[in-house]
Amino acid sequence: SSVVEAPPRLVIDLERLSNVPAERAGPLARYASTIQSQRGDYNGKVLSIRQDDLRTLAVIYDMPPAMLAEELISWGVLDPDARRAVEGGTD
Ligand code: C2E
Ligand code: C2E
Ligand code: C2E
Repeated sequence: SSVVEAPPRLVIDLERLSNVPAERAGPLARYASTIQSQRGDYNGKVLSIRQDDLRTLAVIYDMPPAMLAEELISWGVLDPDARRAVEGGTD
């Protein structure tokens, strides 16, 4: 066990996201496509996002980051390993 462990990357599965009903996935889908266009990164099947972006999305979805992460995991859009990115935060 290492002393300092890097947080897991937050990797959005864009293919699966496209299969989630827009009613729920809409804000995340729009956010992801904005990031893709800012990066000029259009052809990926996945998109790595910032830790900060999950916090921003949690505000948009009006739920705690950990709960939003659980929802994304339940959609298959986020890997279960991403739980470690949101638990034990300092806020
Ligand atoms: P910026 O935040 O000023 O970042 C400028 C450039 O620094 C980025 O250009 C990228 O080459 C590099 N960079 C910054 N942070 C990281 C990082 O964590 N990892 C890596 N690998 N590179 C990093 P790029 O990719 O063309 O993005 C242009 C602008 O688009 C960024 O300017 C930022 O305003 C926005 N952007 C891109 N991706 C994201 C994102 O995931 N979340 C947010 N909130 N904005 C993003
Ligand atoms: P990884 O982070 O496990 O990513 C595996 C593959 O997922 C990447 O292979 C790429 O095909 C895809 N991928 C992940 N995030 C994105 C994304 O935001 N946009 C797109 N279009 N594809 C994404 P790839 O590109 O051959 O990279 C292989 C490995 O090289 C990555 O494994 C990572 O360890 C490293 N790497 C690539 N780009 C960066 C980077 O910007 N920053 C850092 N730190 N490592 C990078
Ligand atoms: P990554 O490229 O492996 O970067 C890992 C972490 O290193 C980032 O976590 C961030 O804390 C730090 N970092 C890397 N480059 C920069 C930088 O230019 N400026 C600053 N201030 N910090 C930097 P973070 O923010 O959670 O991002 C996670 C992943 O999301 C990044 O992994 C990268 O794959 C992607 N990403 C984030 N922002 C950008 C961006 O602007 N452009 C691109 N192309 N990818 C980004």
